[in-house]
Amino acid sequence: MELLRQRILQDGRCFEGGILKVDSFINHQMDPVLMKSIGVEFVRRFAGTKVNKIMTIEASGIAPAIMTGYLLNLPVVFAKKKKPSTMEHMLHTQIHSFTKDRTYDVVISNDFLTPDDHVLFVDDFLAYGNAAVGVLDLIEQSGATLVGMGFIIEKAFQEGRKLLEEKGVRVESLAIIDDLSNCTITIR
Ligand code: 5GP
Repeated sequence: MELLRQRILQDGRCFEGGILKVDSFINHQMDPVLMKSIGVEFVRRFAGTKVNKIMTIEASGIAPAIMTGYLLNLPVVFAKKKKPSTMEHMLHTQIHSFTKDRTYDVVISNDFLTPDDHVLFVDDFLAYGNAAVGVLDLIEQSGATLVGMGFIIEKAFQEGRKLLEEKGVRVESLAIIDDLSNCTITIR
């Protein structure tokens, strides 16, 4: 996706440990026009699949997920990183974050992820794939079917795709970063 590629090269910044900071248009301040184009591209990539629900994980996945859900006229559900005391029929998993170096609980209600659902999961980054594997666990617990996973940015040097494809997941990434070493952003 050329628009996204150019934006990453223009405004993305890299940090030690292979971290790409895109705070000015995805992770903190957001560009709704770019986000709409991202939604359009996800719709295009997954055209022809049978999806009835968009799923994501809070917080940064919500913007691209809502754009995709809006374009497809489908509901959007997000997994939560804190357990609400009032949540009914809670499904639970744990996810380890390399960027934050901690493990956190992730929950979703079985009321909003059911065996009738054919799910497209959308998120901001694919790195090592831990978040995505946690989401896959929630989807399996719920009895729903995963149709595919779409990421705005994939860091190809951190092998999340390999992990997911070994589990039979279809992965679509709109920008693929091949390398961030020496603080140079190399996009495929
Ligand atoms: P994974 O579980 O695939 O290792 O990492 C996925 C999550 O970690 C993403 O949802 C994102 O929030 C965060 N993340 C991983 N790498 C980066 C990065 O380079 N930059 C930013 N901004 N977030 C990242």
